[in-house]
Amino acid sequence: MSAGVAPSRPPRPSAWQSELARGYRRPDELLAALGLDCSHLPAARAGHAAFPVRVPRGFVARMRHGDPDDPLLRQVLPVAAEQDDDPGFVQDPVGDLSAMSTPGVLHKYHGRALLVTTGACAINCRYCFRRHFPYGDAHAARHQWGPALAYLRGRPELTEIILSGGDPLTLPDHRLGTLAAELDATPHLRRLRIHSRLPIVLPERVDDAFLQWFTGGRLQPVMVLHANHASELDDSVAAACDRMRRAGVTLLNQAVLLRGINDDVASQEALSERLFAIGVLPYYLHQLDRVAGATHFLVAEDRARALAAALAERLPGYLVPQLTREDASAPAKTPLATPRHG
Ligand SMILES: *Cc1c(COP(=O)(O)O)cnc(C)c1O
Ligand code: SF4
Repeated sequence: MSAGVAPSRPPRPSAWQSELARGYRRPDELLAALGLDCSHLPAARAGHAAFPVRVPRGFVARMRHGDPDDPLLRQVLPVAAEQDDDPGFVQDPVGDLSAMSTPGVLHKYHGRALLVTTGACAINCRYCFRRHFPYGDAHAARHQWGPALAYLRGRPELTEIILSGGDPLTLPDHRLGTLAAELDATPHLRRLRIHSRLPIVLPERVDDAFLQWFTGGRLQPVMVLHANHASELDDSVAAACDRMRRAGVTLLNQAVLLRGINDDVASQEALSERLFAIGVLPYYLHQLDRVAGATHFLVAEDRARALAAALAERLPGYLVPQLTREDASAPAKTPLATPRHG
């Protein structure tokens, strides 16, 4: 490269980008990889047409071969129940569209704002509210982050920025690094938080280039992971968490309470124990957002409360996630757990 010429992008994709590109994107290849017969195919195809199947191979490798009820598979394989209609399950259950003042900026809570950085994800979770979200214009990466940054700079009451999506870590490091540098230079900010499922479903993403922009600056780095079941947390995920921890990242996890997947005390206890073993504290356990197509994942609120109470009787307090619900106009997540001793 000659002097004065701007550095070009790396000529080859990084390892995680190749792994991302290799993910399964068709129901038939997912079923074949797990040795499942094609009786599941018609329902899977119908769901796929509405919200495509997408799952990294490394995540599929943690599923039980030949088991259609595997708790990881059920998060990603469309089933017939997705076609069930329920007027209580809507397109935008958390009111995100009306809360977006600047494209890509959600500033609903005191002191922190959330950037919808991109609509893309490495995995398509069937219970996700994102399945209907019109991301076309509503993300912050457009125009070199300009409007989003202008908004954040003009709000001195903000101390923390949350990179969310979609999944922010599907974006390349050169774009995220540019954003991180701008945030670093914004004096009122103290923390940079990322909400991502990539370190779980594609742990290759936690590489040197990522750690450099995430942990190399002034802002305290916080990573909120998203794992729902202990089986998601294999040795490759443990290694990714270890790298982040050694680089000074505070690691937390949010999970979604999902019927037939993690709605029993044993599953939740195993999840908390495994998270702590790999250096992650449980943070939130979210009651499902009532999004169209996800009725079959709902756990009734009284059952959810009973589960949280039972969990609190079995684990130290720091391993009990906060059971919460998201209400469109509330100033914070709404806690659902009732006091144990009352
Ligand atoms: C969930 C959420 C946050 C983060 O809430 P914490 O309680 O700080 O984890 C921030 N902004 C929006 C819009 C959210 O939905
Ligand atoms: S935003 Fe999170 S829950 Fe939704 S599809 Fe992406 S990874 Fe899954």
